[in-house]
Amino acid sequence: MPGIPTIKLNTGALIPQVGLGTWQSADGDGYTSTVEALKAGYTHIDSAMFYRNEAEVGKAIRESGIPRDKLFVTTKIWPTDLQYVEETFNKSIELLGLDYVDLYLMHWPVAMNHNGNDRWYPTKPDGSTDIVDPEEWSYLDTYKEMQKLLKTGKVKAIGISNFNQERIEKLLADPEITVVPAVEQIELHPLLPQQELVDYCHSKGIAVEAYSPLGSTGAPILNNETIVKIAKKRDVSPAVIAISWAVWRKTIVLPKSTHAERIKANLQLVELTDEEGKEIDNIHKLLGGPKRLVDPQWGIKLFD
Ligand code: NDP
Repeated sequence: MPGIPTIKLNTGALIPQVGLGTWQSADGDGYTSTVEALKAGYTHIDSAMFYRNEAEVGKAIRESGIPRDKLFVTTKIWPTDLQYVEETFNKSIELLGLDYVDLYLMHWPVAMNHNGNDRWYPTKPDGSTDIVDPEEWSYLDTYKEMQKLLKTGKVKAIGISNFNQERIEKLLADPEITVVPAVEQIELHPLLPQQELVDYCHSKGIAVEAYSPLGSTGAPILNNETIVKIAKKRDVSPAVIAISWAVWRKTIVLPKSTHAERIKANLQLVELTDEEGKEIDNIHKLLGGPKRLVDPQWGIKLFD
């Protein structure tokens, strides 16, 4: 497939359909993997406050010499920061060292308290997650604060992540919410195609990003029989097939790697036939139904 295809967001901006994932790429790996990705031709990088790599990702971007308007940079706000949108965003943009981000996402639709015992997963004395009472502060309040960021010019688009359809419906129905999220980022791979949610988002003009497209840590999807069979037939790696499937189904896809050769190889897309795409659509059915591979036990039930 020549070049990386793009999708037009509801803001009018174009987003490259393949971006570099950077979860678990920190302590130098965020820098080197972003450098390698930009060298290999990626123009889209997915970061987050939670990944603790905004400073190194930003450094690699700044040093690349690639004009800023040729790149698409995303970062995200974590649950413990949901009540402090403006100050958290300012921290992110400072760490990145950029004038703006192309996309700012709410990482999860749940606010957690800062209670000092853990920056990322605060717990109550009984061991349960320290969630803020939604009557006091909900994800809708956070989204309203995110809308205000658009006026600063430092955020080109806002979006959501890990929202189920019910939560999106609630968000769209809120009279104070006037900006339809540009993007919903969710776990998507052949074991969890979530076709209904993808179709729902598309029907509302929300582009969908696939996280953990290879099945996350250890890339278990790459051992799937059907994926391996199609990879052999097309003479490419199983990773290329999993990534190309995400592109075929009109989603944006964020493969992560800290290895230069994999980063490069993951960009060699092939155009799947509809027959191949549908065969991959069916994989989860052959294996007993959809399966989440990234399912944090803290916080909320996401897909109920
Ligand atoms: P991925 O599905 O991208 O898989 C990453 C794993 O695959 C790593 O173990 C990596 O190893 C391995 N890998 C990558 N390429 C290859 C290859 N060609 N051959 C063999 N193994 C390979 O997992 P992630 O969970 O990281 O998801 C991708 C991105 O999505 C994240 O990095 C993040 O940006 C985003 N994300 C967002 C979430 C959210 O809540 N919004 C949650 C989870 C992810 P190695 O690095 O050693 O090469």
